[in-house]
Amino acid sequence: SYRKGGYHAVRIGDSFADGRYIAQSKLGWGQFSTVWLAYDTQSSKYVALKIQKSAPQFFEAALHEIEVLSAIATGDPSNMKYVIRLVDHFKHAGPNGQHLCMVLEFLGDSLLRLIKYNRYKGLELNKVRKICKCILIALDYLHGELGLIHTDLKPENILLYSTINPSKDPIRSAMTPILERPEGNQNSGIIINSIEKKLKQRARRAIARISERQASMGGVGVIPKPVRCLDGIDMRCKVVDFGSACWADRPIAEEIQTRQYRAPEVILQSGYSFPADMWSFACTAFELATGEMMFTPKTGQGFSEDEDHLASMMELLGKMPRKIATSGARSKDYFDRYGDLKRIRRLKYWSLDRLLVEKYKFSDSEACEFASFLCPILDFQPEKRPTAQQCLQHPWLNMDNQTHDEVMSESNVENINFRLSNLQIKLHK
Ligand code: ATP
Ligand code: MG
Ligand code: MG
Repeated sequence: SYRKGGYHAVRIGDSFADGRYIAQSKLGWGQFSTVWLAYDTQSSKYVALKIQKSAPQFFEAALHEIEVLSAIATGDPSNMKYVIRLVDHFKHAGPNGQHLCMVLEFLGDSLLRLIKYNRYKGLELNKVRKICKCILIALDYLHGELGLIHTDLKPENILLYSTINPSKDPIRSAMTPILERPEGNQNSGIIINSIEKKLKQRARRAIARISERQASMGGVGVIPKPVRCLDGIDMRCKVVDFGSACWADRPIAEEIQTRQYRAPEVILQSGYSFPADMWSFACTAFELATGEMMFTPKTGQGFSEDEDHLASMMELLGKMPRKIATSGARSKDYFDRYGDLKRIRRLKYWSLDRLLVEKYKFSDSEACEFASFLCPILDFQPEKRPTAQQCLQHPWLNMDNQTHDEVMSESNVENINFRLSNLQIKLHK
């Protein structure tokens, strides 16, 4: 893709916007762009530089994204709504053409990476709650105040960030949380400990490498990324990637959302709005808590991916009401007039709370509470789903957050009780 109309090739140290931004390292890439950590010589801060492919359709897409991001920034001047902030934008001419570039605030790893670092085991529920609150505040702002649908909400498009202020030396301050955590922290299990050990090794190696490079680059350092996954004591995140966002009164595409996070009304083409984002939000929350995607539809013998997807939804959430099933432009492809799937006849019904208990080893109460939060958001009828604002009122989000010490002292009490009762048995004998 590094050809005419495609990506712009960047070398470390390249400068942009008449020397204002200096490329430091690659942060990521997508279908439309490559994203670079850059040093902003004007503000002396690190930023993320998103360099779009240059072909006209990509240029147009970037113009749209900039329009959306500008509206987001204007509506939230104090940057409180957990949505990515556009700092600047400009054109850059290169050998492959004219590239629109977006300068964004620099954030950390995506939630997808966080899930991977946890070895697909799911995060602690208190962390899930904190992350969900951020996403819901973001969605409430986008939906309620701007009238904007994100249309591609998923763990990959939600990035962590740290509220710790980088001090004079950004490298070491970014490394500090992990390097200074005591080895064998009681907080973390064996697996996390071994991951932490590896991360520390990587951090030390990265510091050595960077110090070398720093010397040759006039003291401009690199903030290495992997660290940011585990320093989430203050767990915050922001919603990113507004390339496919649209205003609710001006929907652009018919087919939106990444497959696994796609709402039923999108599959059936019954028209979509804000509730489609809410569906993706629920799928994301489930994935954070369990480490696995809620739906992973596949094409099978005699049925399509869409049909498998609809079948899995019904197996977990109950039968789709006939009216809803038959109301979309594509309903006839999948459902008969009774609202039964044409090609997948025998469904194995489960329920969300049983799944959480049996497959993911939630306690009964945890499963029941989490399911009571998720199920209304997964209503087949989009109009019945709670809004982001309504979700923010749900008791699950504000359940008593027990601290580690409280949990430990509770289990100590249990331990003592256990020993006491053993002693009583012995005495009795
Ligand atoms: P897509 O195909 O997903 O639409 P895209 O070309 O629009 O991709 P983004 O998803 O915006 O690009 O960014 C690509 C990757 O770059 C992200 O997945 C993330 O890893 C990284 N990235 C993007 N923005 C930032 C940021 N502000 N700070 C840090 N990393 C970022
Ligand atoms: Mg993306
Ligand atoms: Mg995009």
